Amino acid sequence: MEADPAQLHSDDSGNPALFDSATPDGQLLADSVVSSISPLIRPGSVRFLSLDAHGRVLDWINWQDATCLYARDAVAWTLGDPCLTVRGGTNRLTGQQSFIELHPIVASRGHARAAGLSPTPSLTNQALFARDDHLCLYCGQQFSRQLLTRDHVLPVSKGGRDTWENVVSACFHCNSRKANRTPQQAHMPLLAVPYRPSWIEHLILSNRNILADQMAFLKTHLPKRSRLSA
Ligand SMILES: [Zn+2]
Repeated sequence: MEADPAQLHSDDSGNPALFDSATPDGQLLADSVVSSISPLIRPGSVRFLSLDAHGRVLDWINWQDATCLYARDAVAWTLGDPCLTVRGGTNRLTGQQSFIELHPIVASRGHARAAGLSPTPSLTNQALFARDDHLCLYCGQQFSRQLLTRDHVLPVSKGGRDTWENVVSACFHCNSRKANRTPQQAHMPLLAVPYRPSWIEHLILSNRNILADQMAFLKTHLPKRSRLSA
């Protein structure tokens, strides 16, 4: 993958209708039509990997937010082949429709992330179950989200904290069996040691529709010890 200069395609009147950067965001996209370049990609499910201009990973963004970056000329560079096309208004003079091709990885000017500073992923149940691959870490069986619970390894009543290092996914049955005890007291050994995912691990775990270019980029940024490296 090579960095391409981002391209904003619009008519040459200097007033690209719906992609006018002066237009409020809501209006900007109200009449836009988004389409996939590959039939394998569903427009609504694609997320774009947002980087700062130094290439540090920020977050997933949807196509609407990605389009705003292009329209505001805030894109510093991109990686990967375009995956979605967003079509805007038609120019009254030329009759040509403006369009923007969105790339899977978008580095933007402006908000840079401090070097070496990586955000801690929020400890939501969804993120926790994704970390544990939807396995109950006591019986080892896989469950759907609705059938999993957040278990505190050291119970809260015994001073356990609600942190990544002290919580695991557990099925209802195991959680109620363990009750208000530690795994040792309950004779229910943990199948894996709970850990705090890095930001990159969190991004991989939180998106089921990662494009090949995005996954290749994220994998080069994984911590060496990561379980997701394989
Ligand atoms: Zn279980």
